[in-house]
Amino acid sequence: MTNLVSVDVTDGFHLVIDALKHNDIDTIFGLVGIPITDLARLAQAEGMRFIGFRHEQNAGNAAAIAGYMTQKPGICLTVSAPGFLNGLTALANATTNCFPMILISGSSEREIVDLQQGDYEEMDQLNAAKPYAKASYRINKAEDIGIGVARAIRAAVSGRPGGVYLDLPAQLLAQTIEAGHAKRSLVKVVDPVPRQIPAPDSVQRALALLKGAKKPLILLGKGAAYAQADADIHALVERTGIPYLPMSMAKGLLPDTHAQSASAARSYVLAEADVVVLIGARLNWLLAHGKGKTWGKPKQFIQIDISPTEIDSNVAIAAPLIGDIGSCVAALLDGLDGAGIAKPDAEWLGPIAERKEQNMAKMTALLNRDAAPMNFHTALRAIRDVLKQHPDINLVNEGANTLDYARSIVDQYQPRKRFDSGTWGIMGIGMGYAIGAAVVSGKPVVAIEGDSAFGFSGMELETICRYELPVTTIIFNNNGVYRGTDVNPTGGKDVAPTVFVKNARYDKMIEAFGGIGYHATTPEELTRALSEAIAAGKPALINAVIDETAGTESGRLTNLNPQSNAKK
Ligand code: ADP
Repeated sequence: MTNLVSVDVTDGFHLVIDALKHNDIDTIFGLVGIPITDLARLAQAEGMRFIGFRHEQNAGNAAAIAGYMTQKPGICLTVSAPGFLNGLTALANATTNCFPMILISGSSEREIVDLQQGDYEEMDQLNAAKPYAKASYRINKAEDIGIGVARAIRAAVSGRPGGVYLDLPAQLLAQTIEAGHAKRSLVKVVDPVPRQIPAPDSVQRALALLKGAKKPLILLGKGAAYAQADADIHALVERTGIPYLPMSMAKGLLPDTHAQSASAARSYVLAEADVVVLIGARLNWLLAHGKGKTWGKPKQFIQIDISPTEIDSNVAIAAPLIGDIGSCVAALLDGLDGAGIAKPDAEWLGPIAERKEQNMAKMTALLNRDAAPMNFHTALRAIRDVLKQHPDINLVNEGANTLDYARSIVDQYQPRKRFDSGTWGIMGIGMGYAIGAAVVSGKPVVAIEGDSAFGFSGMELETICRYELPVTTIIFNNNGVYRGTDVNPTGGKDVAPTVFVKNARYDKMIEAFGGIGYHATTPEELTRALSEAIAAGKPALINAVIDETAGTESGRLTNLNPQSNAKK
């Protein structure tokens, strides 16, 4: 018999869990399989929440929105190769939107992958992830798990937040390590999101520019919502008296009903303003790159951003303010009184108020029109009125027309309550974001989905039912992508590329998993269904039948479709 000295050991599986828990991470979104099934089991056994999905992209989207809501990296766990690639879409989306998340994927045997000898799910995942992530790391030794996880966390949340890829080879998980050594190897990230104070002279430059402005405008982006500097942003808007525009995910930073909101006079203020203060918003395609007809008269920009390379991305920025939004806005507030900045006068505010009134009257007329079947306006009027009673509800929104109309019709009252297609303008975030938001907040979620957009993540209805999440999904069902009326010009048997099964009953899908299905054909039925579903707090789906002729090609992005010059 060998004389064994008993040594207390642990392994890679346990260390990964310990390293996450050591940094107060308590939830993993993922999908199990080789080689990470035991990692998920163990996470649950050790008291973490594991939310299992039906497709990795949706798990990744849930993790990303969790990161956006909490300023802690959302964790997505996947298997190797295809599972990793499915998750990578969400990681790229998170990086593009500046959401902190970590995609952790198991990977196949290094020596076989590197020699391309053909392993099960063989893929060089680390290098595949690099172009789409803020940072990518692989951990090869159990004793490096502590530092590797810490590194990933800091990379995700510090500076401009983004997606980080963490590669865990199967062999690493099974590696054993002496327990005391393992414990000592854990790293708690100190000050993961350090304040970044703006330079005093850049604050003075911004204040001086604001002082000279006759027609100033504040533009709030989702970076401002992410920063959780709500009170100071509120104070800046109200103390300066400057009209403001929220980008879609910044809606609710101040209630959309705020007197200074210029949303209903958007085109007017963008064209007429002389000084624009950008707070956590990029001058990308969503803002017509800061130039051209949208922006009308010449203007100067003050831009607050944590990322110095964002400055001068499209047009010259007269007063860059580099730092975290909390510190930058606080510095502007400190300097306001001394700078002698007067509130904007009636010459600027008068015409804005006039336009707001005109446009709001036009919108009210559209919303109140009786339409059978429902169109986007009448359906959204019903939803708007119900959601007004629930100002703290989380709203997920995607689709083309469904996104465009809901964004301008449904008001938000609280910060970080609206989650949508974001910087890429993509479809497919719906059920992932809805699940992430429900899990993180413990509060109800309403997802307003185009029928096409819903298709990308529809199978997660099962996930919603399995975890009994208070998610109500409303499908704007107009029988197709954009609308349901296209026909195949050849007269052939296949339907047109944009058309779905007519009169589909999406409400029956959720019933298969034990959720509640509603079929609504009038605003009254929709009001009743939504009120009942929110009150029940149970998984529900409302199939809202919309006029199949109602949609516009690509919603407001019709101009992005190239036109064929060789039409026969
Ligand atoms: P939107 O789509 O709403 O216009 P963007 O995603 O384009 O917003 O812009 C968000 C910007 O906010 C990014 O440039 C990002 O660097 C910046 N940002 C994110 N978090 C912070 C923060 N805490 N402090 C300063 N800037 C931030």
